[in-house]
Amino acid sequence: EKDSSEATTIPNDKLFGGLLAPGFDKESCVSRYQSGLYRKASPHKPSSYLISKLRNYENLHKRCGPYTESYNKSLVELQAGYKKSSSTSTECKYLVWLPHSGLGNRILSMASAFLYALLTNRVLLVEHELDMADIFCDPFPNTSWLLPIDFPLKNDFNGFNMRYPEKFGNIVRRNDVNVSPESPVPAFIYVHLEHDYNYHDMLFFCDQNQAFLDRVPWLITLSDNYFIPALFMMPSFEQELNKLFPDKEKVFHFLGRYLFHPSNQVWGKITRFYNAFLAKADEKIGIQVRVFDAKTSPFQSIKDQILGCALREKLLPDTDKQNATPSKLENQTSKAVLITSLYPEYYESLRNMYLEESTVTGEVISVYQPSHEVKQVFGNNVHNMKAWAEMYLLSLSDVLITSSWSTFGYVAQGLGALKPWILYKPEDPKTPDLPCFKGVSIEPCFHSPPVYECKAKIKVDTGALVPHVKHCEDRIQGIKLF
Ligand code: GDP
Repeated sequence: EKDSSEATTIPNDKLFGGLLAPGFDKESCVSRYQSGLYRKASPHKPSSYLISKLRNYENLHKRCGPYTESYNKSLVELQAGYKKSSSTSTECKYLVWLPHSGLGNRILSMASAFLYALLTNRVLLVEHELDMADIFCDPFPNTSWLLPIDFPLKNDFNGFNMRYPEKFGNIVRRNDVNVSPESPVPAFIYVHLEHDYNYHDMLFFCDQNQAFLDRVPWLITLSDNYFIPALFMMPSFEQELNKLFPDKEKVFHFLGRYLFHPSNQVWGKITRFYNAFLAKADEKIGIQVRVFDAKTSPFQSIKDQILGCALREKLLPDTDKQNATPSKLENQTSKAVLITSLYPEYYESLRNMYLEESTVTGEVISVYQPSHEVKQVFGNNVHNMKAWAEMYLLSLSDVLITSSWSTFGYVAQGLGALKPWILYKPEDPKTPDLPCFKGVSIEPCFHSPPVYECKAKIKVDTGALVPHVKHCEDRIQGIKLF
């Protein structure tokens, strides 16, 4: 007899060793079930503690999610402004995530917000607006993670910036962090975790403030950063994080694969491109070219750098410049190169090179680029769909070359569990002659970490405080897990 429940019909490896919950409607999010066919079997397994924590979270989200009784009750309190301290354990607390910056930044900060919600028993609701519509599937079963359109504070979101009076940093600065468990707390606090945040905002990452924050029913955060490494520096979360992630290098890998499933529309783009151009190659090489400043990074030098890296590290074969004899047909192996970039030129020159000249190894090299949008666009979900499809396609590579500083590349390397070859930032005068170097871990870099020690409140080297966090290889002021 056939059981119709997903739990028995979907093999465990398709659900990433239990990371993903069964019980979703398959048709509504095909990528959840098909992605296992496109990825190599992962040697990395999530801890059983992480799995059980996620299942508990899913129950909490279902109980507290949009339009549930608890949610409606919490909105009444939100509109009343202040909350009495007598919170009961059955009540729901929320973390609202607001979008900012490019899609790579957003994916990393959503993953960070989710981990903070997981650690503090909050429910994560995300504001995706129109430009993120139809990009991701809902990650939690039988509920929604989208902030409802009629959420009462929506009109205030535009005012959430450094100066907002009910910003956490401003509350701390005014000395309004009332530690007494009896005192009333605001019904919501805005937590500013953008790269421009100041000393007082950074104190969010201090244990002594978490007890106060814990009593606030609604936290609303804006962040363009992967702030997870800072959570690993907080003693109050240490034990829990160790149990959740015995392997510190796989934090985004698991959270990213758990949270971010391409919508059917994006999955269509990904699979059509993959099947048409990449599937049959013996090896797939992803090259992510992010040019932050076209003036200091002229085309020719970036092109030389990419080729220099690929040849030096033997990721691609050189070509035979003199002898134009066609290579032999027997035992030919093939490599498919996937280039992603806003610009078409890198793709064109590499493709032409391998079409004009034979390779010295006889390998067949084909070069592809899914789109060239020319400019980063804000407010357009079709543009964002292309970006998401390309990050995902890069993550299906066997070998990855990325650009320094780019969150777009971090997402690909994390999802794919690929230690990338990182191109040096060309405008940096200290750049050595080498074109690229190997990343130390697959984790994304937290570009603007807190720089103060919580107790002494003095500036410290945050890259030297705890064993698993050090400065990023591509951005020295950043920190990352390894
Ligand atoms: P970062 O700025 O490199 O850290 O990455 P983000 O993803 O946060 O922001 C860059 C944005 O520019 C992307 O989200 C896209 O909108 C666009 N973009 C940059 N590079 C590419 C690319 O290779 N392909 C596509 N489709 N879009 C890109």
